[in-house]
Amino acid sequence: MRFAIFGDIHSNLEALHAVLSDAEAHHCTHYICLGDIVGYNANPKECLDIVRALDCPVVKGNHDELACMDFNPHNVSPLANEGIDFTRARLTEDDLAWLASLKFVRQVRDFTIVHATLDTPHKWGYVLNQLDAGASFSYQHTQLCFFGHTHVPRAYIRDHHVHTMDSWENILIEAGRKYFLNIGSTGQPRDGDWRASYAIYHVEEQYVQLRRVEYDIATAQQKILDAGLPPRLASRLADGR
Ligand code: ZN
Repeated sequence: MRFAIFGDIHSNLEALHAVLSDAEAHHCTHYICLGDIVGYNANPKECLDIVRALDCPVVKGNHDELACMDFNPHNVSPLANEGIDFTRARLTEDDLAWLASLKFVRQVRDFTIVHATLDTPHKWGYVLNQLDAGASFSYQHTQLCFFGHTHVPRAYIRDHHVHTMDSWENILIEAGRKYFLNIGSTGQPRDGDWRASYAIYHVEEQYVQLRRVEYDIATAQQKILDAGLPPRLASRLADGR
């Protein structure tokens, strides 16, 4: 059994296609989505349709929540805000109801999934260091938890202390330790690497593999410009920021 775990797709259809075909090539049998399906990029409806068709466990992201609101909160960054109306206009009432129904935290088999953090999942805090990870670990009742939100793949491992791995490729799940693994972003990576990021959890072998996948970034960028979205949303894809 192999889970493909992906999130922070942010309406980037080309990146989502690339991740799903890489997952298929690596014989993934199950899918998990960590939220932020929409926002920022040009294909919210197409990405949402694909995720819904996968019929897999999904948790809610802050951009999914934003799309369902009937006002624009003042505490959202201007770049994120610009895309909200664009996104809402492309989703059906049924899509919005589906997004609104998503849970913040779910347990799947023996692991947990959350978009942002387990201590206050609905507040969308960012786990950026050992202290933040420590707060989340207090609420982690499974050995393994996957999260996203920062768009930076980083691993936090707790035994007597909390250890950080600023970049990771393969992690073996060992007894006596807990794992809080950020799988990076499919559609808008921010760790300086433009390639789409996701993880494969090999259940029998008890290891997790981070994958980086090239995608048709030129098409994704052109669609952003053609849609009249801020050009910065296109350029940042190439920067991986
Ligand atoms: Zn996000």
